[in-house]
Amino acid sequence: MGYLDRFSLEGKTALVTGAAGGIGQAIAVAYSKAGAKLILLGHRNNLDETTQLIEEGGGSAHQVIIDLEDVESLPAYCEDLLSQFQIDILVNNAGIIRRDEASDYSIDNWNAVMNTNVNALFLLTQHLARPMLERKEGKIINIASLLSYQGGVYVPAYTASKHAVNGLVKAFSNEWAKDGIQVNGLAPGYIATNNTKAIREDEKRNQSILERIPAGRWGEAEDLTGAAIFLASEASNYMNGHTLIVDGGWMAR
Ligand code: NAP
Repeated sequence: MGYLDRFSLEGKTALVTGAAGGIGQAIAVAYSKAGAKLILLGHRNNLDETTQLIEEGGGSAHQVIIDLEDVESLPAYCEDLLSQFQIDILVNNAGIIRRDEASDYSIDNWNAVMNTNVNALFLLTQHLARPMLERKEGKIINIASLLSYQGGVYVPAYTASKHAVNGLVKAFSNEWAKDGIQVNGLAPGYIATNNTKAIREDEKRNQSILERIPAGRWGEAEDLTGAAIFLASEASNYMNGHTLIVDGGWMAR
């Protein structure tokens, strides 16, 4: 067995939420290349591109359509998934951002963001971790953000939700580390995806962001996959309750 086999995901099944594009797609494809079977979760019928990328690389993917905002239905969806699959790795990646000034921020925007980014993550983790707790083995990776640490502007719900994501990384980890489950976070910096389209198109914002990134460029979803594989693999077995920041140096500034 070569040393790098510690990073292999061979024989594992990984569920990635929000796998239609962006960061979720990149992680799903990378996990497949590292040997895992994939369950791709999306809320619309748009998972074929990710499935095709995985199949072209010789991997396999099962699609599941679930609207994570519909939190009431999630426990039953989870039971259904667990009756079909052993899930070894859960990546809570799906997330939304709604922009408005704090003084005008609507409760609808607040609820949509909190339901998708926090309540769904909590319920999915709680339910899908139960068999992991019995098996004494499992990996849970929550996608956080730089706004797990900073306040941001015009995105109060997103900021609150991503601070909560980091809190849950620690809260779950404190209870489950002794049971062989590693719960960790991955905080992307500024990555060129749909999530950041609006600020990339605003020339002033785009320029001021670029000036602050020591690496001098926006990140690509692919930039996160090395850390994501590490957090899903045996190589991170003694890593608990930590969020890895992959941001081209933004937070060091
Ligand atoms: P994205 O392309 O918009 O990805 C978000 C994913 O979540 C999409 O696949 C989306 O599906 C899915 N999703 C949204 N609402 C959902 C729902 N109700 N049920 C199920 N799936 C839902 O943007 P991204 O940048 O890759 O974002 C992925 C994660 O990274 C998010 O948690 C985001 O907060 C985080 N993040 C991104 C950045 C960045 O710079 N891009 C930085 C920090 C953190 P549809 O496309 O079909 O709506």
